[in-house]
Amino acid sequence: MKPRDRLRIAMQKSGRLTEPALELLNRCGLTFRQSRDKLFCFGEGEPVDLLLVRDDDIPGLIAQGVCDLGIVGRNVLNEYRLTGGLAGPALAEWRPLGFGRCRLSVAVPQELDYRDASQLQGQRIATSYPGLLGEWLRERGVDASVVTLAGSVEIAPRLGTADAICDLVQSGGTLVANQLREADVLLESEAVLAGPQALPSDERGDMIELLLKRLDGVIQVRE
Ligand code: ATP
Ligand code: ZN
Repeated sequence: MKPRDRLRIAMQKSGRLTEPALELLNRCGLTFRQSRDKLFCFGEGEPVDLLLVRDDDIPGLIAQGVCDLGIVGRNVLNEYRLTGGLAGPALAEWRPLGFGRCRLSVAVPQELDYRDASQLQGQRIATSYPGLLGEWLRERGVDASVVTLAGSVEIAPRLGTADAICDLVQSGGTLVANQLREADVLLESEAVLAGPQALPSDERGDMIELLLKRLDGVIQVRE
């Protein structure tokens, strides 16, 4: 691929991470021409542009070198590391960003008296995170059948297609509405700055270092 002289950051086009990610970049002194309905946002002052995409596409775009950095949930980044990104270059979590906090948890029917993961032996567990769930089960020596669903995971037990689920939880309200309760936490997640393990050796590497420095300043002020 032709080397670029501008830095490109991927972020979620429309969703929970969009507003806080833009605000964080603004605080780092980055402003963008208003064209948020588009895929591409041109950076005004600094040579840094945005690519607005679905959050699930962000790790792949970094791995392919289409983008230099991305703002994405740790849950999405780690799932990609376990499933999508096995052949490609390794991705790194450069900074935790302090927003978009949630947990990836196993939830079970409310009436079940859950003590530990061994009770999931032989059960069907619905999830959009087969990589993370599979690893967690393996580490505990539990043999369960992982049912991969793209969305609406929380209704699977009511539909009879799963016995338990593994999904993102913030307040737990969705679980209660579906007669489920949080039983075990697999991953504490938040938005992170993701990038390649090795910084590019051209001037984009210097730009990334500068951005990391500004980010550290902004995050420190916020804490
Ligand atoms: P996209 O259209 O980009 O694929 P999405 O529906 O996958 O959007 P959102 O629901 O906006 O994504 O969530 C984006 C990220 O926000 C999640 O990957 C997760 O890291 C974080 N998050 C925080 N709280 C929650 C929650 N309660 N449910 C889901 N995601 C949450
Ligand atoms: Zn998504």
